[in-house]
Amino acid sequence: TGGGQGIGLAIARAFADEGASIILADIDPKQEAVESIRAQGAEVTARKVDVTDENQVLDLFSGIPKLDILVNNVGTYGPVKKIVDMDRAAWDRTFAINLTSAMLCCREAVKLMSARRSGNILNIASNVARRGLPYRGCYVATKWAMLGLTQTLALETAECNIRVNAILPGPVPTPHLDEVMKLHAEVEGKSTAEVAEDWRLSAPMKRFIQPEEVGKVAVFLASDLSSAMTGQS
Ligand code: NAD
Repeated sequence: TGGGQGIGLAIARAFADEGASIILADIDPKQEAVESIRAQGAEVTARKVDVTDENQVLDLFSGIPKLDILVNNVGTYGPVKKIVDMDRAAWDRTFAINLTSAMLCCREAVKLMSARRSGNILNIASNVARRGLPYRGCYVATKWAMLGLTQTLALETAECNIRVNAILPGPVPTPHLDEVMKLHAEVEGKSTAEVAEDWRLSAPMKRFIQPEEVGKVAVFLASDLSSAMTGQS
């Protein structure tokens, strides 16, 4: 999901390199994204779908005859506000995009996968799924919740030979990151370049992560190289 740009597209391209047939389910499945995967020689179908809409999710999955891997990647940065100033509507919308969409897609994917007793689900969380971050309480809460969803679904589906794991990337240069750094600059009274530098220096390796590096982790987790791993983050 959300394969139209950024991390989702990089993950789709990493799977395309491994010979997967890809469905890009995105509210805006950009033609250039589809073409870039096709140019790799992979089979790709673009589906324009809002994954927060239950009926659209049902429609998406009803058209899939065989599903090996689901990547729940859709996410938004949410309101950049302290909890004390939180806007209820923005909070609810962010939970719908970041968490409820993943539950809906997991629910439908598990039905397809358990019938074949085989499947692999990857949930894209964030490094803030294990800590707090001022002004981002809503995003942080959705990402911690993604780990709860991951661990519980892993326990519920292991008997059907389905594995469920989460990936927690640090900052990855994408349109999402550019927008949210600008908003942090506003509330923190800094320039966007200063925010970018703070975030780079707070990363253990003192650098941002490339989307392709997340793609490689996704391939590892969906492959037999990680055959004993489930419920992990
Ligand atoms: P992005 O905003 O660049 O791309 C998100 C994609 O999701 C877009 O193609 C968008 O059209 C699609 N999308 C948004 N809402 C949708 C909806 N309701 N239905 C269907 N498609 C929808 O984001 P990104 O930076 O590539 O992030 C992808 C995921 O990785 C998110 O879950 C994000 O929280 C997480 N993440 C990002 C970073 C980072 O630094 N970029 C770090 C950690 C985790």
